[in-house]
Amino acid sequence: MLVVKELQKVYDARGRRVEAIGEVTFSVEEGSFVCVVGPSGCGKTTLLRCIAGLLPPTRGEVEVAGHRVTGPPDGLAVVFQEYGRSLFPWLRVADNVDLPLRAAGMAKGKRRELVDEALDAVGLGDAHQAYPWQLSGGMQQRVAIARAVAYQPRVLLMDEPFAAVDAQTRADLEDLIRSVWQRLGVTLLFVTHDIDEAVYLGQRVIMLSASPTRVAEDLAIDLPDERDQLTTRGDARFTELRGQVYAQIQKAKLEGKTR
Ligand code: ADP
Ligand code: MG
Repeated sequence: MLVVKELQKVYDARGRRVEAIGEVTFSVEEGSFVCVVGPSGCGKTTLLRCIAGLLPPTRGEVEVAGHRVTGPPDGLAVVFQEYGRSLFPWLRVADNVDLPLRAAGMAKGKRRELVDEALDAVGLGDAHQAYPWQLSGGMQQRVAIARAVAYQPRVLLMDEPFAAVDAQTRADLEDLIRSVWQRLGVTLLFVTHDIDEAVYLGQRVIMLSASPTRVAEDLAIDLPDERDQLTTRGDARFTELRGQVYAQIQKAKLEGKTR
């Protein structure tokens, strides 16, 4: 469903060359949940922007559903970290969720149905008429997730979506996104700097090295599909896996420093 082939990205900021992505290659099967972890500043957001067609790669290419990405592909949605900036403050919650459906030229009845369903799915069935600024941070992020879900994407990209919410909300949102993924059968690429979160959520964790980024390791997470915060995080296998990811990230950091 998603192929990233020898992707390289060099920023040219007023003559200052920043090699953000050294060379990254991986692919993601349809319907799977893959997490990408890497140290801060390693190029995770850059990678997502290239995949979303928002930023042209310097070299290499991205394919979504067999088509080379040259601009934002159909059937792809992105949820960013800054929920505050991703919602329109002058639009009510339901209208924020409706906006991409409207833009896609969908009929009104169908749109209504999808908006209702998506807001129910994220537990905001009674917040249709509220404005984003009347909601807590966690609720705003739910609205952003509902907007992505209502669009019924085949591929969903998430860029550290829970980094700015408190720990309890974060746990709820993690479980929410697992259930949304299971229900929709969407292909999910979830970027985070949080090792525990990556292991808890993913079927696979791709670890990135420090910038210029490469894939340091690609690890299958062989935890059962039914996960919950207490049992899964208390599982000996979970501890083992997070240890493996942690060690790899530390190694990648050190290599970044000595380069
Ligand atoms: P991450 O999301 O992993 O924290 P980013 O993709 O945001 O990393 O950034 C990777 C590297 O590219 C960093 O060194 C950052 O300073 C640099 N960078 C990001 N955006 C730009 C830009 N628009 N112009 C120049 N350099 C950038
Ligand atoms: Mg980032």
